Amino acid sequence: MGVIERMTVAVEKPLKEAIWDCRMCGQCILHSTGLTCPMRCPKNLRNGPCGGVRANGNCEVFPDRPCVWVQAWERSRKLPLFRDHMHHVNPPVDWRLKGTSSWINLVTGRDHKRPAGWAAPESSAHA
Ligand code: SF4
Repeated sequence: MGVIERMTVAVEKPLKEAIWDCRMCGQCILHSTGLTCPMRCPKNLRNGPCGGVRANGNCEVFPDRPCVWVQAWERSRKLPLFRDHMHHVNPPVDWRLKGTSSWINLVTGRDHKRPAGWAAPESSAHA
């Protein structure tokens, strides 16, 4: 990681941790989740909830917590912008980017590069 990225991470990490409980995945999709960090899901799902959401909307793994994806849906309905981004199909997490700056990765396009063999529908991932 170069000097510029280290400086950017030094700003991005505390800011996004304080606001969104960010886990610094390096490939931010807050615009697709009603500004709810999907990495707080214990299964790290990127395209909606698992089949274990409880009847009260809480998490299968942590019954005392609301499902991140239930929150994401509800919050996305209230956003004036990006509401349709909830329907984007996101590729699996690229763990090589963990700890890097999602801001820099967005600008450089690094967060759009997929490893060989990932045939994610990229046209819908960032349309
Ligand atoms: S999606 Fe990634 S970069 Fe965005 S808030 Fe969550 S952990 Fe942070």
